Amino acid sequence: MAYTIEGSSGAWEVVIGLEVHAQIISRSKLFSGAATAYGAPPNSQVSFVDAAFPGMLPVANGECIRQAVRTGLGLNAQINLVSRFDRKNYFYADLPAGYQISQYEHPIVGSGVIEIELADGSTRRIGVTRLHVEQDAGKSLHDQDPARTFVDLNRAGVALMEIVSEPDLRSPEEAGAYVRKLRSILRYLGTCDGNMEEGSLRADVNVSVRKHGEPFRTRCEVKNVNSIRFVMQAVEAEALRQIKVWEDGGTVQQETRLFDPSRGETRSMRSKEDAHDYRYFPDPDLLPLVLDEDWVAGLRAELPELPDAKRARFIAEYGLSPYDAAVLVAEQATALFYEAVARGRDAKQAANWVTGDFFAALNRLGRSIEDPPVSAAALGGLLDLIADNTINGKIAKEVFEAMLETGEPAAAIVDARGLRQVTDTGAIDAAVDAVLAANPDKVAEFRAGKDKLFGFFVGQVMKAMAGKGNPALVNDVLRGKLQ
Ligand code: ADP
Ligand code: MG
Repeated sequence: MAYTIEGSSGAWEVVIGLEVHAQIISRSKLFSGAATAYGAPPNSQVSFVDAAFPGMLPVANGECIRQAVRTGLGLNAQINLVSRFDRKNYFYADLPAGYQISQYEHPIVGSGVIEIELADGSTRRIGVTRLHVEQDAGKSLHDQDPARTFVDLNRAGVALMEIVSEPDLRSPEEAGAYVRKLRSILRYLGTCDGNMEEGSLRADVNVSVRKHGEPFRTRCEVKNVNSIRFVMQAVEAEALRQIKVWEDGGTVQQETRLFDPSRGETRSMRSKEDAHDYRYFPDPDLLPLVLDEDWVAGLRAELPELPDAKRARFIAEYGLSPYDAAVLVAEQATALFYEAVARGRDAKQAANWVTGDFFAALNRLGRSIEDPPVSAAALGGLLDLIADNTINGKIAKEVFEAMLETGEPAAAIVDARGLRQVTDTGAIDAAVDAVLAANPDKVAEFRAGKDKLFGFFVGQVMKAMAGKGNPALVNDVLRGKLQ
């Protein structure tokens, strides 16, 4: 079912296009040798180029270009062997040059595609219009002094990729899934750390609404949204606002807005400038960027296995459901962990344990997959004990909890606590006899046709055996004696 919002005039469709700014992982800036480390003291990572001293010349950083091309390849996009840097002119206190070096008419990466996965298991392909490389601006600090504004230029000149989507997204869920997938691909590639709290990844959210079958209407751009949850909330809030404007007989004006998460609404920041307002022109200090085809082919050959390919392989190789496979490949570290557990074992059981008890433990203990409370080898050891019938599945959960508490291997816990599964039919016979003797009325009901009572008997026998009975044997013996 397509997502729509019901207004007083009927259903509205929401149209969304995202411009994502992703900070490139690189030790130095796009056009200078200054460092890019996060959290350094203000203005401690600023070169004369970044501060726009007269006569300073920018030199393109090859590593940043390499990272941008690798990202384009990871997005299945066209790599433009010739691209160009342009000046985008505007005045702002934290932009000392009075222009930003960006790419306008000739970006380094052309159209590509990102496949998103939705909660109902369906997938959609979202068009990427382009990816271009540009400089970040500095930061104005308004809260350091009652009367003055300070400027920190550490971020000035840091390399960004702006990744622009087609207006293909149709719901808050799709917008969230798009950012999540893009972030996952960037992290696999190692081209952006995707840290939205630190501002390494931020999204401009373009939203319009229309009636089904209509051409697009005017959009508004919600600037600098810095979490996936806020992207989704901003889409909804902005769509609701625009629907009200149209239904009240007004017209939506193209403008730039800000999302206020505490109030759950967007507010106007400025009327939207058009490209011609920026007086773009080719930067005369920089030559056109010309890439060698073989170099690009080399980068393509060295790309890691990316989430889509890994997901397809997990489905084919391990027989996982598309949903489980998507969950396991979202982060590279999770996929690695899973494969270490699954190798040589029951792969579906391994997936259930990793996405079930193991993820729950990570959550509960506030730990990350990079610093797991139980190693892949240790979890694998637990699964081996289930596979060779040393313990049953229920006891395994108890052993897992003990592993979390003690850090001991599964086998040692099973031995120390006497949790071995009982497969001795004599002991099972005795437990079954005792349970049947203690419940003559239930036995009579069962024999009179109340089949559902079987589960009750299994539970009683298991309880009598402290959970350690082999479930298959307990079932067999019970069935035999109840006939
Ligand atoms: P600009 O350069 O002015 O920001 P673009 O044409 O590059 O404009 O589009 C910017 C973003 O706006 C893109 O992500 C695009 O998909 C999105 N967009 C364009 N038209 C619409 C629309 N009518 N509704 C929603 N999003 C749109
Ligand atoms: Mg734009």
